[in-house]
Amino acid sequence: MPEKSKVSENSSRKVYIRTFGCQMNEYDSEVMAALLQESGFELTQDINRADFIVINTCYVREKVKHKVFSFLGELKKIKMQKPHVLLGVGGCLAQKEPHQLIEKAPFVDIIWGTLNLDELPELVKGAREKGFPIVKVKEKGFLPDDFSTIRKKRFSIYVPVIRGCNNFCSYCNVPYVRGREKSRSMDSILKEIEKAVAGGCKEVILLGQNVNSYGKDLPEKIDFATLLSEVNKLPGLCRIRFTTSHPKDLSGGLIVAMAKLKKVCEHLHLPLQAGSNRILKLMRRGYRRETYLELVDKLREYVPDVSLTTDLIVGFPGETEADFQDTLNMVKRVRFDGAFTFIYSSLFGTRAAELENQIPTNVKKERLRQLIQLQQKITQEKNKSYLEKELEVLVEGTSPKNPDELEGRTRHNKMVIFPGDTSLVGELVRVKIMQAGCWALRGEPKS
Ligand code: SF4
Repeated sequence: MPEKSKVSENSSRKVYIRTFGCQMNEYDSEVMAALLQESGFELTQDINRADFIVINTCYVREKVKHKVFSFLGELKKIKMQKPHVLLGVGGCLAQKEPHQLIEKAPFVDIIWGTLNLDELPELVKGAREKGFPIVKVKEKGFLPDDFSTIRKKRFSIYVPVIRGCNNFCSYCNVPYVRGREKSRSMDSILKEIEKAVAGGCKEVILLGQNVNSYGKDLPEKIDFATLLSEVNKLPGLCRIRFTTSHPKDLSGGLIVAMAKLKKVCEHLHLPLQAGSNRILKLMRRGYRRETYLELVDKLREYVPDVSLTTDLIVGFPGETEADFQDTLNMVKRVRFDGAFTFIYSSLFGTRAAELENQIPTNVKKERLRQLIQLQQKITQEKNKSYLEKELEVLVEGTSPKNPDELEGRTRHNKMVIFPGDTSLVGELVRVKIMQAGCWALRGEPKS
């Protein structure tokens, strides 16, 4: 490996940021972009022009870890050719396994975690001065409430309201990589949204690994429904979305708020994970399927046209055919608009990884196939109910498949594709739905 050379002070320093994982990581990358810009870097989308390459990692499943390491393999080649280029790794994998990371990728210059990303400019300075790897991860603690950001999309933004998770579901890494729940002050959240609305933002997506726990740790004990009603009052904002909810914390007050508050969109993502009470117990989810059904029925009573999506895991250790049938029956009973479906993947350090009766891969794959087949049929049927309807769409950009077409989302979080030009990006438009597929609706713009 060629000798590491210090990056000279006066070169125009460009930074390239690659993000793996969830919306919270997307937001953290927008924060890192602002922190680095404030310390003199210029953002570039071209990795070959970068003097500093940042990887914001995810560690929600083993598969993602492999993706991160194969990307690091590519970066090793860049480092060999251009030793002055700094490589930095942050995010959840760095938070959980910093030393394994530097062992496997000794060519990386800086490693930081999810709880100290605010220290990034200092760490870059240190790495440039010292010329050898800096590994700094905080075991515990909290990030400050306020950050500047460089937004990917001006018209639709992510805003974290609570970070961390106290639930410790037995298959999940999040509590180990994001720490304990910490709510931001309401004032800090409202200020961030007001500033974005002044800059042309129309939609805000409130983020948290468990948004429903918002406020429980704050001295003034405000709840998530109260926060929603305050955000709803902000002039100029058109839409409010939020993710992710936990069924055990989904309050009646939140359901009423979804029904009453005009700007809160008619979509809820409510992970069920499994249909069997025995498996829900082993997962430490903290609710039974009967409770979940009561919540769904109440939600549909207050918000009749609500679009409901979920997360489902098949092949959890010990899952019998009967348990799996319970999951299929819940899917038939609830009729979700959509579902993110996963094969259980054992993660080192989680309780479930210690469980016996790990399910053979071929059985897991077959169950996933059956689940996807059932859910796609239901999604298709539900999407058909939008035919001939005129819907409000927030235009997000041109369709990746056809540059003459635009794509955007309805208040029910349905993707809509329709002909139009890029001047409409970021605008709210009306579209009449002419076709209903499984993944997207297609329509004609209405004046
Ligand atoms: S609530 Fe969600 S983030 Fe928290 S431990 Fe459970 S699955 Fe993970």
